Amino acid sequence: MSLRIIRPDLAVPVVVKPGQTAVDAPPPPEPLREPTVAELAVNFTGAMGRWIKAGVPVVSAEAYAARSAICSPCEHWDGRARLGLGKCKAPGCGCTSLKRWLATESCPLGKWPATPVHQAV
Ligand code: SF4
Repeated sequence: MSLRIIRPDLAVPVVVKPGQTAVDAPPPPEPLREPTVAELAVNFTGAMGRWIKAGVPVVSAEAYAARSAICSPCEHWDGRARLGLGKCKAPGCGCTSLKRWLATESCPLGKWPATPVHQAV
């Protein structure tokens, strides 16, 4: 059995297991935060570099729909952002729904993989 307590120095609940004191308990993981503008620029540049280097492959409409079915209910997805293109607020991302067309890209949290299916002409 474990006990959730508030450590004043952390101001958040921590889980204390039998044999531990509140001081011994590890702090909880940091909450996920949105990428900064600089991180967005790095992520975008990296994504475009991978995509161009691979020959600009795009996924099929079915694969795009499958990726969308995963992203749309995701807790990190804001479908109203960026004039309706949406925005993933997960660290290491910041993408819009357009990223789902890029075969070389994947979900930063491992919810969908890169799937090179079609090569653009
Ligand atoms: S890319 Fe991954 S983390 Fe981002 S909205 Fe889609 S499923 Fe969620």
